[in-house]
Amino acid sequence: MRVKVLLPLPMGAGYDYAVPEDLSLTPGDIVSVPLGPREVTGVVWPGGADGKVPDEKLKPVKRQFSVPRLSPQLMDFVDWVASYYMVPKGAVLRMVLRREQGLADVKGKTGFRRCAVPPHVKLTAKRKAVLEAAGDRALSARELAEAAGVTDGVVRSLAEAGALEPVMFDPDPPFGAPDPDAGRKELSQQQEAGAAELRALVRDGQGTALLDGVTGSGKTEVYFEAVAEALRADPEAQVLVMLPEIALTLPFLKRLEERFGTPPAHWHSDVSSAGRRRVWKRVLDGSARLVVGARSALFLPWQKLKLIVIDEEHDQAYKQQDGILYHARDMAVAMGARQGFPVVLASATPSLETVHNCELGRYSRVRLPSRYGPAVLPDVEVLDLRAVPPEANRWLAEPAVAEITETLIRGKQVLLYLNRRGYAPVTICRRCGERMTAPDSDTWLVEHRYTNRLICHQTGFSMPKPEACPHCQAKDTLAPCGPGVERVAEEAKERWPDKVVEIFSSDTVEAPGSAKALLERMTAGEIDILVATQAAAKGHNFPGLTLVVGVDADLGLSGGDLRAAERTYQVLSQVSGRAGRAKDKGRVLLQSYQPDHSVNLALTSGDRDAFFGAELHCRDEIGMPPFGRLASVILSAEDERKLLEEARALASHVPHAEGIEVWGPAPAPFYRLRGIYRQRFLIRGRKKSNLQAFASDWLAGVKGTSAVRRVVDIDPYNFF
Ligand code: ADP
Repeated sequence: MRVKVLLPLPMGAGYDYAVPEDLSLTPGDIVSVPLGPREVTGVVWPGGADGKVPDEKLKPVKRQFSVPRLSPQLMDFVDWVASYYMVPKGAVLRMVLRREQGLADVKGKTGFRRCAVPPHVKLTAKRKAVLEAAGDRALSARELAEAAGVTDGVVRSLAEAGALEPVMFDPDPPFGAPDPDAGRKELSQQQEAGAAELRALVRDGQGTALLDGVTGSGKTEVYFEAVAEALRADPEAQVLVMLPEIALTLPFLKRLEERFGTPPAHWHSDVSSAGRRRVWKRVLDGSARLVVGARSALFLPWQKLKLIVIDEEHDQAYKQQDGILYHARDMAVAMGARQGFPVVLASATPSLETVHNCELGRYSRVRLPSRYGPAVLPDVEVLDLRAVPPEANRWLAEPAVAEITETLIRGKQVLLYLNRRGYAPVTICRRCGERMTAPDSDTWLVEHRYTNRLICHQTGFSMPKPEACPHCQAKDTLAPCGPGVERVAEEAKERWPDKVVEIFSSDTVEAPGSAKALLERMTAGEIDILVATQAAAKGHNFPGLTLVVGVDADLGLSGGDLRAAERTYQVLSQVSGRAGRAKDKGRVLLQSYQPDHSVNLALTSGDRDAFFGAELHCRDEIGMPPFGRLASVILSAEDERKLLEEARALASHVPHAEGIEVWGPAPAPFYRLRGIYRQRFLIRGRKKSNLQAFASDWLAGVKGTSAVRRVVDIDPYNFF
């Protein structure tokens, strides 16, 4: 007997192994097999052995892990993702098995709980304190000693005397079963109508719906109803609620816990490795039924996934930018369609792809047009900076300053939004004009005053700010150009010296817990002015916040990015949505040099659908997504000559295919990063074009070298 085993490695499509007599293996079984001198974990894969290796050379499977097998649906999904993104199946399996520590036999810890005390045991005051602290729930010796205010030795001696019962802890305890009816809120009429539609979708067991509701409309409560319905319908059903990493906050987890009566399993990069092992193991055995996670949660070893909810579905954080360049929203929708379960996408500013799919009738649309409760949407106004420019080296225009002052006098809070970390985005020598760049990249260095360093935001390179210009050696001539959040905060502190000004950006909230502390202070009204990057744009409710100022609303509109306008619109309306979440009406001021830009017009008029319509029309005219398809081919190499040679060779061998065009090669906007040069091709096809087959034929026709790396990005979002 032989089986095919797929290994979680970026090569091949599985190897044959012999099955020892004492094992009986089925596709999906997780096994350990020899690979050269190593032993590797793999999965018995469907499709059978290929028989290429003769029997006498075949190596045997070493052992089978005693865990549930991967579901056939999951294996089908791995195969499909691999073919869609043109990567080896093993590379996709690696995303599923990455938490394979869930397979290890982790030793349980011993704990102690109360029992009848044998009569011969002498009870000192300390021992009594321990017995009082012990309960029906097992505690470790340490916990018990701490609770009783004694040393661990007292606990142990009591246990040895038989006065405490030892019990083994499960190191990966199962998650509590979610209760679909635990903390159900009374829904508004609008919410109830939406919830009824989503419940019907869940009962149908298929289809994708867009929950399209303005910020603060209570979308979360509505999709909770879909989650509840799925959990109720099948006692084994598993549900995944996906959020962009930065929106996966403690308040959100608390909300889920209150709604479903038990803390959900959660999966994101901040979860400890023990925490992830527990989630992985409990998803595999089917007992983790409600999981909330970031993008990679899609590749957990699901047994019976029955619903995926994708909150903030438009968010580009769903597209993985390294390794396998997958888009978690697109893959979730594909998974639902292949496996026959429904998918709910939620957003106040849906992606054009999703809007288009609604228009075509592929997705249904559930609308929540007004905010929950008394809150109303804020008024948005654009400040024309051409008419009222800020003073030199200041970033707030006079009318904005006046409104901020007025808001602060009323005791309300202000958010100054600028999606730029650090003090100044560019540092220039006033004498010779040199722009400071990293030594091995073409990127500008950003000044950070907190740390007094110059940092490259692309590669993370950093250096102390030099006293002299490295080019002309003049002293004290390096000048910051333009604003970052630190510089805007400096201005705010100068203008309102008696107010509390804080910065929220990934630099200022690096330490664990600091983001939470800052957000709590903002929520409690202890901060008057919060200067924030996009990191604070999502999901937070600050009841005292009534004024949001977009310091540079044009940022993001420039550059050749296909989605620049769409993305700017999305983030500005998210940020605007932070204003006036309680009963006071909010105000939004957007400082712009392009007040007539369609994004600004859409935000001031509130006519989102007209903006989407116009954007879609443009995309249609130029055959871009969602009307056409894109793929990028990115070549990179340390050796620039070899890179250019291979790019030229590929350019001269572009196959002819109806409806498919290839542009390039062109240097990537950051041509050199960390000493690596990059050239790009862009392939555009029609909606139905098979870009994968085209790219695969093309690349196979030009022999590569190990000096040049080729990466294909299907449906690219990043053009850098
Ligand atoms: P969205 O996700 O649409 O921006 P949320 O679901 O976060 O909106 O809801 C906004 C606020 O309104 C939250 O503070 C939420 O707790 C509250 N809320 C929404 N629906 C209800 C409800 N039915 N009952 C009580 N509070 C609600």
